[in-house]
Amino acid sequence: MARRKKIYEGKAKTLYEGPEPGTIVQYFKDDATAFNAEKKDVIEGKGVLNNLLSEYFMLGLGQIGVPTHFIKRLNMREQLVRSCEIVPLEVIVRNYAAGTMSKRLGIEEGTQLPRPIVEYCYKDDSLGDPLVTEEHIAAFGWASQQDMEDILSLALRVNDFLSGIMFGVGIKLVDFKIEIGRVYDGDFQRLVVADEISPDSCRLWDMETNQKLDKDVFRRDLGNLTDAYTEVARRLGVMPKNQTPVTKPTLIN
Ligand code: 5GP
Repeated sequence: MARRKKIYEGKAKTLYEGPEPGTIVQYFKDDATAFNAEKKDVIEGKGVLNNLLSEYFMLGLGQIGVPTHFIKRLNMREQLVRSCEIVPLEVIVRNYAAGTMSKRLGIEEGTQLPRPIVEYCYKDDSLGDPLVTEEHIAAFGWASQQDMEDILSLALRVNDFLSGIMFGVGIKLVDFKIEIGRVYDGDFQRLVVADEISPDSCRLWDMETNQKLDKDVFRRDLGNLTDAYTEVARRLGVMPKNQTPVTKPTLIN
């Protein structure tokens, strides 16, 4: 088997050079981190579930015309994606108050917001991904005005799509984070939804009981994270079938 080159190792994923120019293999690890990696654990099965769930959401987005970096899933742990330049922003959409918004503004968690609120954080772990305004984004050249219009539109389309899918299976989409990539087609650049969409990057609450089915289970020690993610996958009908998990990256450089 050919060797391939590791491009980047993140907290939850490792990226390898893909088989074709302009492609990347995303390997989903079982590592869980929170509070800027101050809290860490290995949660068996998390990577497989996030790989399958992210595939499900990215494929669905593609089907309704929202561009993503996703090409195809390769196996239980890996997916092939288009290589893109990541815009250094975490784009957060909130439908209900929770997490840092509740802390910052003193709004009780679970309060429905008058409309979806989009926030931007500057992607820098050493700074703790600080909240920034469009003024910072423009002044520091992280994205152009046109990019920001496209990013807002992508974020709201992803929100409508994910909220609807979750509503259909009795889950409230409280909030989520996406990352945006730039893909170059010749002289043209396009913005696409990149990275992953999974319970690691969303807050998902059961509609009836408000039970948390997302990474807050790990962040706040609320129970078994794999059980929570498995419940989301089960409701969406994307449970792993005939699972033969690849426990380690198949090719390492
Ligand atoms: P908060 O700002 O309340 O901590 O997070 C808002 C939403 O964005 C939550 O769904 C949270 O999971 C997601 N989020 C914020 N920062 C990150 C991050 O660095 N990594 C991941 N995976 N999700 C994040």
